[in-house]
Amino acid sequence: MTAEHTPGAGAARRGGTGIQVDGLGKTFKVGAGKSVTALEDAHLHTEQGSFLALLGPSGCGKSTILRVLAGLEEPTTGRALVDGRTPAELRRDSELGIAFQDHALLPWRSVVKNIALPFEVAGRSVDKEYVAELIALVGLTGFENAKPAQLSGGMRRRLHIARAMLHDPGILVLDEPTAGVDVELRRQLWELVTGLNEQGVTVVLTTHYLEEAEQLCDRIAIINHGELIANKPTRELIDMAREKIVRVSVDKDLPG
Ligand code: ADP
Ligand code: MG
Repeated sequence: MTAEHTPGAGAARRGGTGIQVDGLGKTFKVGAGKSVTALEDAHLHTEQGSFLALLGPSGCGKSTILRVLAGLEEPTTGRALVDGRTPAELRRDSELGIAFQDHALLPWRSVVKNIALPFEVAGRSVDKEYVAELIALVGLTGFENAKPAQLSGGMRRRLHIARAMLHDPGILVLDEPTAGVDVELRRQLWELVTGLNEQGVTVVLTTHYLEEAEQLCDRIAIINHGELIANKPTRELIDMAREKIVRVSVDKDLPG
């Protein structure tokens, strides 16, 4: 196996300036003159190689940030840059790998053919050796010819990640990669994504589990109702949360 065939190796080679989100806002028109503000004036800066969690309850705007970063949604205000490049430039340069739950796997295609799909669509030749490396990386060796319906839910999640890594991108964007999976599968996914980050891949994921953000990420951004209410190194944020818990309990212990 050459270095070129190690998934994630490309990220370390390239370097970059990280994620830069400035004044990002997104309003969706929902008909009859009504609109929904999914995101308001969000600012977020991280370094290349970082591991960022966007943490918050359902509907708070997490996926919207990722969709803007991935170039799937135009912002209403502000901008998002990764490595100083716009989402459109990143996609053109194949620097971005995205794994969103609603990006379907094709049911009639095998594991190998689902992974190779983005290159086939783009008319690029597929390096079979690299695809085999990806399959090994996500623990699907032996399932090369299986169809998605023959895989467990956790295996399908890993297949999504393998496909997102086909370009050997420097940045991996994952929307709720572990939502609804059991503890063991979550641990496997954590190992997989942590390994890629250790190779130098910048990872941004959304989650509503504080524990997941704490275990994996070096930085946590908390979003509530479309507003970014914190963006700190994990340690700092957890310490703050702890202080807050202590303060609340002290208040309770001091009746007037
Ligand atoms: P999260 O990922 O945190 O659950 P989202 O970013 O998906 O939240 O959504 C934030 C808000 O924007 C929600 O109120 C959601 O209903 C709304 N929203 C998201 N996408 C659209 C869309 N395409 N059209 C209309 N409203 C949307
Ligand atoms: Mg979401």
